[in-house]
Amino acid sequence: MDTQVAIVGAGPAGLVLSHLLDRQGIDCVVLENRSRAYVESRIRAGVLEYSTVELLCALGLGDRLMRERMVHHGLELLFEGTAHRIPLSELTGGKTITIYGQHELVKDLIKARLDKGGDILFDISDVAVYGLDERRPTVRFGHRGAAHELRADFIAGCDGFHGVCRQSIPLGVLRSLERVYPFSWLGILAQAPPSSAELVYARHDRGFALHSMRNAEVTRLYLQVAPDESLERWPDQRIWGELRTRLARDADWELTTGPVLEKGITPMRSFVAEPMQYKRLFLAGDAAHIVPATGAKGLNLAVADVTALAAGLTAWYSTGRTDLLDSYTTTCLQRVWRVQHFSWWMTSMLHKLSDNAFDEQLQLSQLRYVTSSATAATSLAENYVGFPYAFD
Ligand SMILES: Cc1cc2nc3c(=O)[nH]c(=O)nc-3n(C[C@H](O)[C@H](O)[C@H](O)COP(=O)(O)OP(=O)(O)OC[C@H]3O[C@@H](n4cnc5c(N)ncnc54)[C@H](O)[C@@H]3O)c2cc1C
Repeated sequence: MDTQVAIVGAGPAGLVLSHLLDRQGIDCVVLENRSRAYVESRIRAGVLEYSTVELLCALGLGDRLMRERMVHHGLELLFEGTAHRIPLSELTGGKTITIYGQHELVKDLIKARLDKGGDILFDISDVAVYGLDERRPTVRFGHRGAAHELRADFIAGCDGFHGVCRQSIPLGVLRSLERVYPFSWLGILAQAPPSSAELVYARHDRGFALHSMRNAEVTRLYLQVAPDESLERWPDQRIWGELRTRLARDADWELTTGPVLEKGITPMRSFVAEPMQYKRLFLAGDAAHIVPATGAKGLNLAVADVTALAAGLTAWYSTGRTDLLDSYTTTCLQRVWRVQHFSWWMTSMLHKLSDNAFDEQLQLSQLRYVTSSATAATSLAENYVGFPYAFD
């Protein structure tokens, strides 16, 4: 098999890249080791930045998104029993955030790609990347009982944090910068209408909680738990009780409950691999970096990476220019580190970090500042709605 760009991974990064390349007439094949049903039902992120929505619409991928999304103009920070609204739109010249489940977006991206005759191979196995030092590297994999080789000009490693692409880069090339937080998130998806119109980020003495949603009937809720926590210790009743405590506020407010559809524990980690390129292999999205979900940035960062990669590949194929590919890492890392800082800052401000009263007072002081100063609130707002990225 032969193509121009072999894309490993059918998550948001790989799928958006396939659409961006198709638009420029660049041939690509997407290789995914899970089934289509699995990737279309995998519950993950749900907050899309302003620029991500603009990009999806410009690519003609926004029809269902625009019909079914929830548009939010603000969010709440809840501490010491009182909720404080950050008016995101007012502080950012009218920008909004969009609530739309990542798995719904993945469904849209897959359908649109297949409808246009694009190649996505699901259920592949034993993926391995070879010949990175050669002019045309190869991806070897198994599919429907047979061994295959896909030769390409470039490989896009969009295979997430545990994928094979980053690990295929020779030892000593990459530098990994990492911070592992002393807590995890226990997340549930519940068949229950949201209890608030907007996202609620709660700092509580018992730990962080987040009230989010996927649509008018489904709520997404999170609790800060111990890093080694096991789900068996959290029957539904205990989860609802803890959420009720941490999300309680002085004013009249009630937490809507309902059947729990999904439950999982995610470790909180910040991670960056530098550089994001080795010869003709380019890493994008979670394959290159992870951010704690507090800033709601992982999916958006993945989309921003592939926008830069597509621009570099387009320049290479159309004019032979290499400068955009050469500067891929530098371009992406500027945004990656801004997002890393914001996500770390939100995480540090809202989670129970220790039993140290000094830490606690610093957090409360920061929260009071960000909810009382327009300047501080604007900084949060512009980071939360996201910075624009180049796309043409
Ligand atoms: C459990 C979990 C919960 C999350 N929750 C949130 C959240 O609430 N809010 C938020 O903002 N962000 C969240 N994130 C982060 C966000 O979902 C990711 O940043 C986003 O999915 C990144 O997209 P991606 O395409 O880079 O990677 P992924 O979505 O991970 O896609 C990678 C794809 O590659 C495939 N793959 C892996 N290995 C191979 C291989 N060897 N060969 C072929 N294919 C392979 C995978 O199956 C997957 O489909 C969560 C992440 C996880 C893991």
